Amino acid sequence: MERVVRLENFGHSFAAPGFVYRPTHPEQVEEIFAAAGQNGLHVGLRGAGRSYGDAATNTGEIVMDMQRMNRILDWDPDTGVIQVEPGVTIGQLWEYIIEDGWWPPVVPGTMAPTIGGCLASNVHGKNNWKAGTIGEHVLSFSALLPSGQQVTCSPTKNKELFYAMIGGMGILGVFVSIRMQMKRIYSGDLEVYAWAEPDLERSLAALDEAKDSDYVVGWVDATPRRSRLGRGQMHTARYLEEGEDASPLRSFRPQHQILPDTILGLVPKAVTWRFMRPVMNNLGVWAGNTGKYLMNRTLGNHKRYLQSLVAFNFLLDYVPDWERAYGPGGLIQYQSFLPKETAHDAYAGMLQLCKRRRLPSYLGVIKRHRPDDFLISHSLDGFSLALDFPVSKRSRTRLLQLLTDLNQIVLQAGGRFYFAKDSSLNPTEVSQYLGQKTIAAFRRIKERVDPEGLLQSDLYRRCFTDGVG
Ligand SMILES: Cc1cc2nc3c(=O)[nH]c(=O)nc-3n(C[C@H](O)[C@H](O)[C@H](O)COP(=O)(O)OP(=O)(O)OC[C@H]3O[C@@H](n4cnc5c(N)ncnc54)[C@H](O)[C@@H]3O)c2cc1C
Repeated sequence: MERVVRLENFGHSFAAPGFVYRPTHPEQVEEIFAAAGQNGLHVGLRGAGRSYGDAATNTGEIVMDMQRMNRILDWDPDTGVIQVEPGVTIGQLWEYIIEDGWWPPVVPGTMAPTIGGCLASNVHGKNNWKAGTIGEHVLSFSALLPSGQQVTCSPTKNKELFYAMIGGMGILGVFVSIRMQMKRIYSGDLEVYAWAEPDLERSLAALDEAKDSDYVVGWVDATPRRSRLGRGQMHTARYLEEGEDASPLRSFRPQHQILPDTILGLVPKAVTWRFMRPVMNNLGVWAGNTGKYLMNRTLGNHKRYLQSLVAFNFLLDYVPDWERAYGPGGLIQYQSFLPKETAHDAYAGMLQLCKRRRLPSYLGVIKRHRPDDFLISHSLDGFSLALDFPVSKRSRTRLLQLLTDLNQIVLQAGGRFYFAKDSSLNPTEVSQYLGQKTIAAFRRIKERVDPEGLLQSDLYRRCFTDGVG
């Protein structure tokens, strides 16, 4: 049962050893807490390890991997209410419900994460403006607190803990069962509309104008010269109305949804990342992005088409292990959230700074967001820009300095950050963005549910405690 494992983040840019336990029942979670307490160790929680930073590692301490608690406990196909254990993945969830005409209302850009991990980060999808975060669709959850107490929380019962644990990055308690409302669908396809925009200003404006679509997202190019920075391809998508799909049962079928194993029926997808690796450098990415943009502006411009829910939502899953194309140093993603009033100038400044430092982002994604009621929230009425950066031995120090400088631009523009994607924040920056009141409320709840400070992670120590547990 007990063993030391080298655990990585999703981007393979950080690794840390931990004593990994994989409970199958809540009683075992309690036992692990008790054993940790007796041995003076701390416990960190881990789902599928899809966070980009250090949220799911706990150097030299216990890591409770929740993936074996993956049972679907109850499903009502009439109401769309489902109860699951925390290790059920987003992929497992949609596959289970889709044939009854339901879909998870909020999903991240990959189907690998667990529901427990998604709640802890309070993930958003490409529909954040329209549907909010995943937490807004949770009816109730049961959690085990480090004190050994089991609690049930909902928006009306143990309300304070409900709004703190969702988004609380696994620092307050362990989700052991979750009840959620799914979304009724009348087709397994979405109607997608794609078009190109020539610069950042118009990309952001287009996203804002289209925000009332069911989904809206944009790819932006962070590699061209100044005036074209932020050009890209925008996508909106809408659910089909009842009756629009003449044979919904066909489009609900997993065979219709599941992503093919080969590209164009020829190249096995499993090896695709190896072909991408030689071109993952500043010149190769600039050339690839330019080609993609030109295609989008010509052949792909103002195109409307049907696409399966899986293909639209989990585009990144098309190329398994794509992150390995970044090479042995891996990648860091940096996602910042800015109010709509300051977003353009701040993002333009950030993209220019990356270019000036010769550290351009290889992938940029913009989304439109709305604020939510959770205590630790990354969201606001504005935009997010997620930037992927390659990491190498040579660039690591310069990259971390760049991220620190980007943090200052975000803070000055009244922005926020997202712990699931973070690798660079320190406690001062965290309290600047969350505010003293929120930090104090979080500490007060932590003290109440975990007086011994048993639940910790590398991210928690880095962002909340100046490295001291
Ligand atoms: C390709 C890709 C695309 C992504 N796209 C998006 C996106 O569009 N939107 C978005 O919001 N995020 C996105 N993410 C981030 C991802 O959805 C989150 O990091 C999510 O939390 C990962 O879930 P996980 O199961 O892998 O959890 P982990 O990464 O293993 O852990 C995440 C957090 O959850 C905590 N945790 C895990 N299980 C439990 C539990 N049972 N109880 C309490 N806490 C627990 C951990 O302690 C940790 O703090 C993306 C990630 C990748 C790799």
